[in-house]
Amino acid sequence: MKDKLTATRVDWRTQLVDATPMAPGGFRSLNTPVERGSTTLFDSAAQVRDVWDPAVAAYTYGLYGTPTTYELAERIARLEGAKQTFITPGGQAAIALVYLSLCRPGDHVLVPESAYGPNRAMAQGILSRLGVSVDMYDPMIGAGIVDMLKPETLLVWCESPGSITMEVQDVAAIVAAVHRHGAYVALDNTYAAGVLYDAFSHGVDVSIQALTKYVGGHSDVLLGSVSVCDETLRGRIGDTRAQLGMAVSPDECSLALRGLQTLGVRLDALGRTSTRVAEWLAARPEIEQVLHPALSGSPGHAFWKRDFNGAASVFSIVFKPSYPREAILAFVDALKLFRIGYSWGGVTSLAVPCFDMNRQYRDYDSRIVRLNVGLESPDDLIDDLSQALDVLS
Ligand SMILES: *Cc1c(COP(=O)(O)O)cnc(C)c1O
Repeated sequence: MKDKLTATRVDWRTQLVDATPMAPGGFRSLNTPVERGSTTLFDSAAQVRDVWDPAVAAYTYGLYGTPTTYELAERIARLEGAKQTFITPGGQAAIALVYLSLCRPGDHVLVPESAYGPNRAMAQGILSRLGVSVDMYDPMIGAGIVDMLKPETLLVWCESPGSITMEVQDVAAIVAAVHRHGAYVALDNTYAAGVLYDAFSHGVDVSIQALTKYVGGHSDVLLGSVSVCDETLRGRIGDTRAQLGMAVSPDECSLALRGLQTLGVRLDALGRTSTRVAEWLAARPEIEQVLHPALSGSPGHAFWKRDFNGAASVFSIVFKPSYPREAILAFVDALKLFRIGYSWGGVTSLAVPCFDMNRQYRDYDSRIVRLNVGLESPDDLIDDLSQALDVLS
């Protein structure tokens, strides 16, 4: 390949900065290459423009997208059946992008009490400073959401199953009521990895994921996605993302693209293991309840059976009231294979005590521990839980 520079004789210093390819062409890998770039080159001065929208001009500035980031976006869009997916620096950034794209002062927003903590924090923090009012609702409310809608309600969040307390929502019933009202429904679809629950066929307007969890799949990437079908929403989210300057690194996206290739086998294994471990725990005398969507006593189990194609890796256990918080902390400390830490969806099993949540609708005070199973042998995980439970007696 020849360009302006190599055609002329130049000083070696000038030669050094020129990155025109010298390697032979024609290399074809099975995997998506990492293409980095803030500046993207135009062929002529007349073509110079600043456009975020790939439907108008694919590449005008690296902030808006590179071949690697668009590859990931397109693959998530195809899996979710969306018109366009925007990749964000994390799942929380995806949530923030939805709020900032849609809400104006005076609007009202409804958030399930079981929503991811930082989602609630943003609703009650930044949004309330911007003049948006927020109410929390019972995630099991279903069609009863109609009683909480106000004339100024613009957006209703769903998260199914909910964080920590794992309530599976009747999203279709909520969508029907909210759409009759003329408002939007956004779903945090992280648990389903965009594949175990079909958000758009259930009428959801915006589906977000923390790709950090199952798509990344190895606890070493932070990324999120916002997916939409509606053209007006696509424009507003695209404009807002560009104005916020929410860029993602192609290196992170390439890790997520690699994660996608094994997502199928990982989810199958994680779902099998989590269900088996959850059923074993449900039969233990120390445990009052196991909050796992595939278990019949779990809140919203019937909706999970109706709407989901499988279970994922994360669930919670509630100890009987006779166990004080110190005993439950000792149980978590006694675990060997389950490491102690936030997040989930990787290959390693994790445990975190989730005390003092102060929930109005379903509160388990200081008796709840969230577990995430990884890809270890289920027998070893059960042995580990068994020896840690023995610490309690
Ligand atoms: C982890 C998580 C997020 C946030 O994702 P980050 O990438 O950590 O910002 C959002 N929603 C749910 C349900 C999550 O579990």
